[in-house]
Parts: sequence; structure tokens; C-alpha cells
Amino acid sequence: MKRTLESLESQPLEGERALVRVDFNVPIKDGKVTNAKRIVGALPTIEWLRQKGCRVVLMSHLGRPKGKRVAEFSLEQVIGELERQLGIPVQFIADPLAAEAESLTRKMKRGEVALLENTRFYAGESQNEPELAKGFAKLGDFYVNDAFGSAHRAHASTEAVAHLLQPAVAGFLMERELQYLQSTLAEPERPFVAILGGAKISGKIDAIEALLPKVDEILIGGAMACTFFLAMGFEVGTSLVEREKVDLASRVLDAGGDKIILPVGAIVAQTLDSDAELRSVARDSIPAGWAMYDIDQDSREDFIRRIRRAKTVVWNGPMGVFETPPFDAGTVAVARGLAAATGDGATTIVGGGDSAAAVAAAGLESKMSHVSTGGGAALELLEGKALPGVEALDES
Ligand code: ADP
Ligand code: MG
Repeated sequence: MKRTLESLESQPLEGERALVRVDFNVPIKDGKVTNAKRIVGALPTIEWLRQKGCRVVLMSHLGRPKGKRVAEFSLEQVIGELERQLGIPVQFIADPLAAEAESLTRKMKRGEVALLENTRFYAGESQNEPELAKGFAKLGDFYVNDAFGSAHRAHASTEAVAHLLQPAVAGFLMERELQYLQSTLAEPERPFVAILGGAKISGKIDAIEALLPKVDEILIGGAMACTFFLAMGFEVGTSLVEREKVDLASRVLDAGGDKIILPVGAIVAQTLDSDAELRSVARDSIPAGWAMYDIDQDSREDFIRRIRRAKTVVWNGPMGVFETPPFDAGTVAVARGLAAATGDGATTIVGGGDSAAAVAAAGLESKMSHVSTGGGAALELLEGKALPGVEALDES
């Protein structure tokens, strides 16, 4: 386990400058934050540090400015929302590498908060450049990483900087993510069921292979299922498939045996349209010219039965094209199944940007044990990979 903020409880932190990597990569429209979820997620860490009398210096990326100053991606746009959430003024440090940036942080009072300009305005950020990390490190006395969503990237603000400040610890949001996606899944209460979906088998194959030896069952939905159907010798019409992955799917089917549970039927249509004519067909009867856009009712019921038998469930990837109703029905049904399982006492974990969005759209977020804030980072943990931003932190 990594050292956490809580482990600093008895340390004299008063007056120390906490350099905190947060994930304020929030949606912005007309200069205003349209969804403050990520800011709210960082509040426990910020408030804890303030109460300890720290001076809190926050840094984050926003969008993909590719190493240049782009007004559209300035974090100054986030200041208003952050001030509203914290109920105090927040200082904006527009040029974190300028000589006066350090003196600005040293002039801050205990409990005050500052936010640095977008870390990705510097090309060295994505190159994990030590020089840039040194510049950031001057602005803090110790380091806290609470940006789980960026932890799978070795960037100057997530990796290199963690080696320059002591202690370097995980914030509360980061701790919670690791608790669920690492600790719980390392020793899951059984039965342990994984649900994988989404568009492509190629993006999820590492997760399938890493999960297979650990899970009791792996339920597969989404377009991914169609590549498995091809491997089973079924025709799939115009469904989204990866023909070059059919051999791989065959091998996974052989290796997985009874553990791999595929849909028994599909909701198909000729066009991806909300008012297109729908048919519900068995998986071996997808007509030519029609595509699978969702799992059918029998599959939903089968998946839900398996989910409700489980004690641990992890879900990554929607069951269908949930962005276009009514093809969201299978995804919503599975989300409801997870919610019911949580109610029965199971631990339910949702990782994956689109799956998390589907759960939120269905209003079921609070009914899951944990909905991850980091799509890519969550997937990498499911693949059994180490996250550079986590590895760089102190051991507990
Ligand atoms: P996550 O972000 O949760 O990891 P992915 O990004 O892997 O999920 O996959 C989400 C995408 O998969 C969605 O855009 C969805 O429309 C698409 N998808 C799911 N099922 C199908 C299908 N049957 N045909 C085409 N696209 C699909
Ligand atoms: Mg996605």
C-alpha cells in the first residue's frame, strides 16, 4: 500500500506548503464549469489540509493544449467554481515557472488556497521532464496526489515531481480509488463477476486476460460480443466487429471455458437511429444488413441473475450503444442489476468513462459501492498494470 494523507495526521504540518495534484479537467462552456464533480471530489483533501494549517497549492491539467498556452484551456476559468465550493478566495498563479511564483506561495497564509495554471501548457509535462518537475516542486514543501484519473500517465506533475518532495502521499480520493480498484479486486469476496462491454475487443483484451484467472465469471456485452460471435461461427450482419481479432477471441473462449458468458440474443436494427425498426433475435440469427446495438431481454435477465449471485462485481464498458435510446436499455438494466446487488450487500465497482456516464444518466451513481473517476486509469488497474503516478508515491 501507498502512504496516505491520513498517515500524516500526527505530523506538524502547520504552515507547510502542500503541493497537490488534483484532476480539475472539468467540462467548460463559455468560461464556466458545467459539471463540478471533479472539483467536489477533491474537496475532502483540500479541506483536511486547510484544517491542518497548510498552505494549499493546487495543480492540474485541463484539456489537451499540447505544450502551448491556449486561452481556451486556462485553469483561470475554474477559479470561480472552486471559490464557490470552498467558500474562500483562491489565488491564481498564472505563471508557475516565473521567479515570483515561489514567493507568492511563501506569502500565502495558513489555510489559504492557490491554483496553478494548466500543467499541460508546458511541453515537459507529458515528457515527465525533470526540469519542469523541479519548477513545480519549488511551490510546495510536500506532495499529495489526488488525481487518480491522471495516475496512469507518467507526467512531470504526477510522476517526476513525486520524487522531489517528501513526503509524497495519496490524497483521499486517490486512496478510495485504490481501495476499490486495487485492494478489493486483489482479494475479492466470491463469487466475483466482471462485466466487460464497449466497442472494441482490442481495447479490452488485456483486461479480459488479466481478469480471467481471478474471476468466477466474465459477462461480455457491447459490440465486443460480436467478435466472439464470429469466433463461434455465427454471422453478425453489419455489427461493429474486428475481423482481425477473431483468432484472439477463439483463444480467449478456449482459455476461459465456462467462465465466459456471452449474450444469448441481440437487439438489432438496420440503422443506428432512435426510431429505427428493432428486432430481437437469437445470437445465431442476426440478419444480413442488420447490426447488433444492444443485448436482448433474455441476456439482460441472465446477466442480472449472475450479478445478483455475486459478492463482488466490477463493470467496464456499456452493453450497447447507450448514447442512442432505446439501445441504452441493456446498459440501464445491468446498471439496475448492480444497484440491486449493492443493496443485497455486494461490493459493486464501476470503472470506465462511458460506463460511469451511463450509471450517472440512469441516476444510479449513489447505488454503487464505487464509481471510478478515472476511465483509463481504472482500466489499467483492471489490466493488472501499475500506475506511474501511484508507484512514485511513498510506501506506507
Ligand atoms: P468505457 O468508456 O466505459 O470503458 P468504451 O469506451 O470501451 O467504454 O465503450 C463505449 C462505447 O462502446 C460507446 O460509445 C458505445 O456506443 C459503444 N458500443 C457499445 N455497444 C456497441 C455496439 N453493439 N455497437 C457499436 N458500438 C457499441
Ligand atoms: Mg470510453
